[in-house]
Order: sequence, then C-alpha cells, then structure tokens
Amino acid sequence: MRMGSVLSRTPVTAAADLDISTGATASMDFTKPRYTPMSRRRRIYEGKAKVLYEGPEPGTLIQHFKDDATAFNAKKHQVIEGKGVLNNRISEYVFQHLNDIGVPTHFIRRLNMREQLIREVEIIPLEVVVRNVAAGSLSQRLGIEEGTQLPRSIIEFYYKNDQLNDPMVSEEHITAFGWATPQEIDDVMSLAIRVNDFLSGLFLGVGIRLVDFKMETGRLWENDLMRIVVADEISPDSCRLWDIKSSEKLDKDRFRRDLGGLVEAYTEVAKRLGIMSEGERPQGTGPVLVKG
Ligand code: 5GP
Repeated sequence: MRMGSVLSRTPVTAAADLDISTGATASMDFTKPRYTPMSRRRRIYEGKAKVLYEGPEPGTLIQHFKDDATAFNAKKHQVIEGKGVLNNRISEYVFQHLNDIGVPTHFIRRLNMREQLIREVEIIPLEVVVRNVAAGSLSQRLGIEEGTQLPRSIIEFYYKNDQLNDPMVSEEHITAFGWATPQEIDDVMSLAIRVNDFLSGLFLGVGIRLVDFKMETGRLWENDLMRIVVADEISPDSCRLWDIKSSEKLDKDRFRRDLGGLVEAYTEVAKRLGIMSEGERPQGTGPVLVKG
C-alpha cells in the first residue's frame, strides 16, 4: 500500500454534493485574525450539520458547526443546543492531533466556539467507514450481533449521494465511475488505517471503545501537486463510541435510537479527552472562555 503520495495534477471527475474547487494555499499567514462579519460572508455550501463559508485567504474555508441533528437521510431532524459547539471542539482535538502525528488533514485552526478554519479541498465523493466491532448497518446486513469483535478492522466505501441514500460501493465502482483512481483508493485506505489506529488508542486511553467511524477525504492541491487529506469532521456524530465498562453509547446513536442524553454523552467524551473542564457549558452563545 502506498502512503500519502504526491501526484502530478490530472483531470478528475467532479465531486458529488460537496462541489468545492481548489485554490493555491502556499505561503499564507494564518495567524492574522482577518474575519469577515458573518452577514457579509459568502456561503459556499450548507449541509445537514455544517455550513461552509468563504475563508479569509484564497484556498481556505470556514467550517461552521450547527446544532442540527439528522438521521436516516434527514427524515429525522432535531435541533440539539450545544451539539455544534461540542463537535467543533472534539473534531478540532482529533484533527489537530492527526496533523501533529503526520496524518494530513484539511484542519488549520479553530476560530471560535462553532467555527474552524480549514483548507479548501476537492471532496472525494465517498464516505469511508472503518469498523472494529459489529454494529449498525453491518449487523443488520450480515446478521452479526452488535458488539461482536470483528476478526480485523474492515474498511467500507459508500457513495456520497443523498438521493440514493449513500449506497455501499466497491473499489470497482469507484474506479469505473472515476470517483477516485486506484492510487487514490490506496491513499484513502492508508489514511483510514492510520486514523483508526490513532482514534482506537486515543479513546481506549479514556475508557471508550471505538466501534466504528466514518471519515471523508479530499484532494488538496499545492501548486501542481496533489495529496489526499482527511476532511469534514470526526466527532461523536460520525463515530460509534461505547463506554468500555458500561457499554453505554456516547455517540449519535443516542439520537438515532431515541435514547436521549446526547449533549451529556458528547460532553462526557469531551471531558474525558480533557477538552472541556468540569464547569464548562457547551451552549455556544454565552461568555465561555475560548482556549488557545
Ligand atoms: P452504519 O453504516 O453502521 O450506519 O455507520 C457506520 C459508522 O459510520 C457509524 O459510526 C456512523 O456514525 C458513521 N456514519 C455512516 N454514515 C454517516 C453519515 O452519513 N453521517 C455521519 N455523521 N456518520 C455516518
């Protein structure tokens, strides 16, 4: 398997629903706070749980985390106050650590309680799911009891297309329809394995079992060179996280399965990771101290 290759620019098929063109990112000063007031920002894309705005420099975007929770392709929808703030903080933590250990991501830095500065990438229209323990759609599809340890980690690909309900696809589909090249699939799988190793260890250390997670990737162009980076978010919205002792669910299944207590569960994850102190509230608009 080839790791993090840098390829010459080649024509690529347009990404699916998140159609973001790329721009040069060299020699930018990201330390300067050059915010555009919310009202004057250009909105690039609005998804179910996030909005992307034009960033302060070419090749950057602002990723804004909403409080909206959706499931079953948005058939179920609820606004859960504090969720966006928690996901912003948890995803920042994960992406910053991935950057630090040399796993490339789109993340630059957090701007405020709900927003982060990211590099603009060309999203590869695939949801990459890594599973360590049987749960969710795998359990349903193959009749394997939830909680069964899998013989090894399994990587699956789903085509990002809401109208089709994100169908599962094989590498054959991906290359035949031009969503990614064989080399890019190798790179995506290498990233997925590295992210899984990092996340599994991170959560194990705080008493949480990483059952599975979904990640997205994008092409980052730097001059005429391209590399694949981890994009979107990694948070309890996109992971299954079970408390090791009690097996309590600390993820979006609390919403999908009407278990309640979603904000409490996400707050517990944030606290265990040391992101939020005991007294800190996730509700985003109040005068809460922003660290770092
Ligand atoms: P499953 O295929 O079992 O429904 O999901 C596997 C894993 O991927 C779970 O951790 C789930 O949260 C995540 N996942 C799959 N599809 C999506 C999606 O469209 N959005 C989010 N946020 N997570 C997803």
